[in-house]
Amino acid sequence: MTFSRFFPAATAAAMICSVSTAHAFSLLTPTRSWDTVPVSIGVMNDSVSPETSIGAPDPDFGVTAITNALNGGVGWNGAAPGLVHAYSATSWSLNDAEPTIVFNDPLGVCAGSCLAATLIGSYYLSGGTGVIQDADVFVSRRATVRFDSELERRPMRCAGSYYIEGVIMHEVGHVLGLDHSSDPAATMFATVDPCNDLMDAITADDIAGLATLY
Ligand SMILES: [Zn+2]
Repeated sequence: MTFSRFFPAATAAAMICSVSTAHAFSLLTPTRSWDTVPVSIGVMNDSVSPETSIGAPDPDFGVTAITNALNGGVGWNGAAPGLVHAYSATSWSLNDAEPTIVFNDPLGVCAGSCLAATLIGSYYLSGGTGVIQDADVFVSRRATVRFDSELERRPMRCAGSYYIEGVIMHEVGHVLGLDHSSDPAATMFATVDPCNDLMDAITADDIAGLATLY
């Protein structure tokens, strides 16, 4: 089963010496994308333990914040209008053709320094190009990782936490067919610092990568 992880900044040093290329983005291998849009993505609060909760002042633990971010114009829809439609979900299942963001990690795919992980193995090849059938996102529930949403942030109260909208925007990039970028400013860069609230806004490099797929 293939999955991709979003690591916190502690593992970033090894990437600083990466070789410069014509572009920074990269695509999943083999190349794959959805053949119909919008890609409807469920957002599910499955917070069965306090450490998975994204913040008490956010009444639904981030579902609204993430849904708004994914449907808004600074994320992937800003590059390809109508590409993504997020909604509040109440259940999920593997390989059901309904991509879901789960605020939990019931399969244990997000270990080590992982903040969130996306299962990207559900696709078939058509003429050498992959057609994605499903991709599900799981969020770390380790007690040492704390998430906030920007809704909760007001007034500024970040203290070493990660902004869930940015982490999820990155994972949805994997859902759409992107791999990691070597551009540290890109949403698809492999790591993020605590309190960085910029990752939910995609960059020119993210847009260039997406444009090769949609
Ligand atoms: Zn990633």
